[in-house]
Amino acid sequence: MDLDTIAAISTPMGEGAIAIVRLSGEEAVTIADRVFQSPSKKLLMEAASHTIHYGHLVDPKTGQVVEEVMLSLMKGPKTFTREDVVEINCHGGLVSVNRVLQLVLNEGARLAEPGEFTKRAFLNGRIDLSQAEAVMDLIRAKTDKAMNVALNQMEGRLSRLIRKLRQEILETLAHIEVNIDYPEYDDVEEMTHRVLLEKAAVVRQEIDKLLQTSQQGKILREGLSTVIIGRPNVGKSSLLNALVQENKAIVTDIPGTTRDVIEEYVNVRGVPLRLVDTAGIRETEDIVERIGVERSRQVLKEADLILLVLNYSDELTSEDEKLFEATAGMDVIVIVNKTDLPPKINMERVKELAEGKQLITTSLLQEKGIDELEEAIASLFFSGSIEAGDMTYVSNSRHIALLHQALTAITDAIENTQSGTPIDIVQIDLTRTWELLGEIIGESVHDSLIDQLFSQFCLGK
Ligand code: GDP
Ligand code: ZN
Repeated sequence: MDLDTIAAISTPMGEGAIAIVRLSGEEAVTIADRVFQSPSKKLLMEAASHTIHYGHLVDPKTGQVVEEVMLSLMKGPKTFTREDVVEINCHGGLVSVNRVLQLVLNEGARLAEPGEFTKRAFLNGRIDLSQAEAVMDLIRAKTDKAMNVALNQMEGRLSRLIRKLRQEILETLAHIEVNIDYPEYDDVEEMTHRVLLEKAAVVRQEIDKLLQTSQQGKILREGLSTVIIGRPNVGKSSLLNALVQENKAIVTDIPGTTRDVIEEYVNVRGVPLRLVDTAGIRETEDIVERIGVERSRQVLKEADLILLVLNYSDELTSEDEKLFEATAGMDVIVIVNKTDLPPKINMERVKELAEGKQLITTSLLQEKGIDELEEAIASLFFSGSIEAGDMTYVSNSRHIALLHQALTAITDAIENTQSGTPIDIVQIDLTRTWELLGEIIGESVHDSLIDQLFSQFCLGK
């Protein structure tokens, strides 16, 4: 394939001490040689592949030193794009990174389109489509857990499973061919039906299982939308701050992505919380007062997790009771705060109201109880519901849509077989299932779909 040399900044803009400018293509090494000077004056072209070089970037036009850099040299095909790749590690910070990028663009590289590096890896046969999408998820992954999902997928776990299912379907289709070719043998037809139903059941079960993981996949990727509610002054802001301080807040404004809503993400023991600011209910003191129990129920229902805060050193009020009413049946953790002050709250009544819910006492002022709260959050969402290790998650909405269609197709195949529909109709259902599964790993997609997918990537990947 005849592809030019592309370059882009491949680390988040303005963050971190180090930034990377990545070059990929036939001219990558030549361009790097034009701007890079190692103390030994040795050319990169003559250096061994997969080596790191220290030196300076010098503007060939002015002879001026631009940057002190470390440069990774990776010659194709053992690279991400299968092309020659040079990564220039320079100081972070907008000005210096842009200067380095400008320099390589001046020397003949072209600014990469969003996702173009990954697109090349796909076009050059290095990765399949679901792996390419996993890279996209990886870029967006906001917590370690989400990162693992993306990484596992990159290792091709989903691809392997899909391939296995397609193989099952192919074998079944082969049986049907035999049946059609030798319709005079009764036992062949009987066997075909039996094999077909067996294999189709397996395929359907596996698809079903994958779809069940999709909800968790979404949660891991997007974060649990979390709302903190409570009367004025109970400590909602303090709780928010404690969660943000204890846990690394996750930066979400990745350049090149379309996300522009500012949300606060925190990673609580692997559970990504998204403290949402929808309709100003992130921190809600008077929501019930303002819009009534029924309406606030509607609003709060959209949250995955509700943190209901009470004041230990104050009487329980009807407002507090209304908050319990408005959140009945939802995922709620009740937090009784300010335990450092003299007790006034009726804890018996609180326990009654909080029945079936987790109840935590804290003194945010003295930083007490935060561990327990985090434990409660984690156990709420990992208690048996997410299996560790070897599970394949589906977290990509295109995959989920295709799996739903495949599930319908395979169910049709099973039902048609059972109701004695002519076998060539069943054949069509199976072929359709096979094609739909193929689309997940990019084996029967149209060019426009590919373009659409890759344009979602952020610059530099
Ligand atoms: P919000 O109105 O619910 O957001 O409450 P804030 O977080 O703004 O807290 C209200 C006041 O209570 C502030 O002065 C806090 O410093 C204080 N506060 C928060 N948590 C505690 C606590 O555990 N103990 C005590 N004594 N004061 C607290
Ligand atoms: Zn507040």
